[in-house]
Amino acid sequence: NARRTTLKALVASLALGLAFGSTVANAQDKGLVGVAMPTKSSTRWISDGNSMVAALAAKGYKADLQFAEDDIPNQLAQIENMITKGAKVLVIAAIDGTTLTNVLQKAADKGIKVISYDRLIVGSKNVDYYATFDNFQVGVLQAQSLEHGLGLKEGKGPFNIELFGGSADDNNAFFFYDGAMSVLDPYIKSGKLVVRSKQTGMQKVATLRWDGQVAQARMENLLSAYYGKDKLNAVLSPYDGISIGILSALKGVGYGTAAQPMPFVSGQDAEVPSVKSIIRKEQYSTIFKDTRELAKVTANMVDAVMGGKAPEINDTKTYNNKVKVVPSYLLKPVAVDLSNYKQVLVGSGYIKEEQLK
Ligand code: BGC
Repeated sequence: NARRTTLKALVASLALGLAFGSTVANAQDKGLVGVAMPTKSSTRWISDGNSMVAALAAKGYKADLQFAEDDIPNQLAQIENMITKGAKVLVIAAIDGTTLTNVLQKAADKGIKVISYDRLIVGSKNVDYYATFDNFQVGVLQAQSLEHGLGLKEGKGPFNIELFGGSADDNNAFFFYDGAMSVLDPYIKSGKLVVRSKQTGMQKVATLRWDGQVAQARMENLLSAYYGKDKLNAVLSPYDGISIGILSALKGVGYGTAAQPMPFVSGQDAEVPSVKSIIRKEQYSTIFKDTRELAKVTANMVDAVMGGKAPEINDTKTYNNKVKVVPSYLLKPVAVDLSNYKQVLVGSGYIKEEQLK
């Protein structure tokens, strides 16, 4: 009988828990954390969001996860709302890293800590920590994959290349570009790589909001203006969604056949459609950034600041947000191509084999 009563009590409390939306994971309920993600249009951010909710729940926090569909006022409103709802910490992957100064001041006035997630928030002193990948290294790896594909180290060339950058309102875009150019510039200077359009420098090669269609239109223009009988051999692309646009422009003018092979095109994020493209030998490479790990690092940061402790960081000099150097934790990006996608992506469980069919 006693057993029955305990069982009844258990069932009742579970039902109560369900009714009030609490789960076993947040039974400790250490507070609410606002998680602001830029967009669902790229699967990487969806993974980031899901991993953040799980990593926070495992530590006893509730998450208010919001996606802003790349709309800046929308993201601002979402963050304001998180503050109103009583979030204790804000984890923010900004759409435009320069537009959050006012809302972050409001957060600071309430004692809310702010962690910049993946992308650095610039121009505000109210950014406490930054969790990201080694973004310069991402660019280095992208360019090294093109260097490898083309055989530049073996002295092959000269080759034609065109350059694409990310969104100029995202601090990361500059790190990717600078990292890539640290590898490509010497070849451009020596004439082994030729940018026929002469469009170099982030101002000229940036792609607003990382938009694949914007990149496709630019690639189409470049192809018709500079590549008639002269063929394009490589394209530096900073992100898989941009690579998809570039590849469709290339296909549109007949690249991707035995007679006219696809140029080597880089990418980033190991998104499923692009990994499939790598398997089809269209896109050449991508960069894997394990967003599960980034979420874990960030959840650890949240837990540390909530406990009044200093979180683990491993970089205190790279990320100057124009007001201060933000203490950071940098994870390692991994280059992926046809030779290692199985081991790296499927082997780590990041992508399931059947998603690639
Ligand atoms: C991220 C990249 C991503 C890009 C576009 C950058 O801030 O670091 O991983 O490809 O945004 O979403």
